[in-house]
Amino acid sequence: MGLFDWLRRTKPTAISDTLWQSTVDKLPFLRCLTVDAQKQLKTLTEAFLAEKEFTAAGGLVLSDEICVSIAAQGCLPILGLGLSAYRDWVGIIVYPDEFVVQRRIEDDHGIVHELDDVLSGEAWAGGPLLISWQDAQLSGQAGYEGYNVVIHEFAHKLDMLNGDADGIPALHSGIREADWLAVFDPAFADFCTRVDAGEETRIDPYASQDEGEFFAVASETFFVSPALLNTDYPALYQLFCRYYRQDPLARA
Ligand code: ZN
Repeated sequence: MGLFDWLRRTKPTAISDTLWQSTVDKLPFLRCLTVDAQKQLKTLTEAFLAEKEFTAAGGLVLSDEICVSIAAQGCLPILGLGLSAYRDWVGIIVYPDEFVVQRRIEDDHGIVHELDDVLSGEAWAGGPLLISWQDAQLSGQAGYEGYNVVIHEFAHKLDMLNGDADGIPALHSGIREADWLAVFDPAFADFCTRVDAGEETRIDPYASQDEGEFFAVASETFFVSPALLNTDYPALYQLFCRYYRQDPLARA
């Protein structure tokens, strides 16, 4: 069965209860949603699948299981924001495992270096989102506390909705940019200080890369290991509750 058969077959059709249940069962952070919230997420996931386009790469064969799992995880952050928060892009490219992206980087002397980056996910501004299916299944498993590559990349998309991935997503009514920065910037600065000091942080040290990565990694932690974010950065946790209009700790 080719991709277009999959799209044709799935687009107008609802996700079966069996497939939905098996998807949720594999993802602890979805399993703890209330019955009503799970129903709402299922409806949102169906609308998402109807609007977006999945493409397989690297020899992967797409299945309903793969598309529904990625869509359901990606829709969790917009449960309180609505599908329009993902309005400026359509494509999701799924690789079987980690994939290589070639980069050209110019150094301070103007010399261009070409290097291969091995990635589990990437979000292109104005373009598609790339995900490794292998990594998309790790979230919630032992040894992967706080990890969720799907939520990470979708959070970048929320961040990019109003321009650069700078850690300031498109804020809705009730949150001013000054309010956001008053909480976000000190948390980011504190985290960078800890990482620079060689402290073993519970949040992935990759988050110290820049504000955009801090937002994406903190968003993963918020949804998958909310207690961890709430303990380390309680003010940021509260800010995320207001922004995402969800309180994952209350349902965990
Ligand atoms: Zn990232």
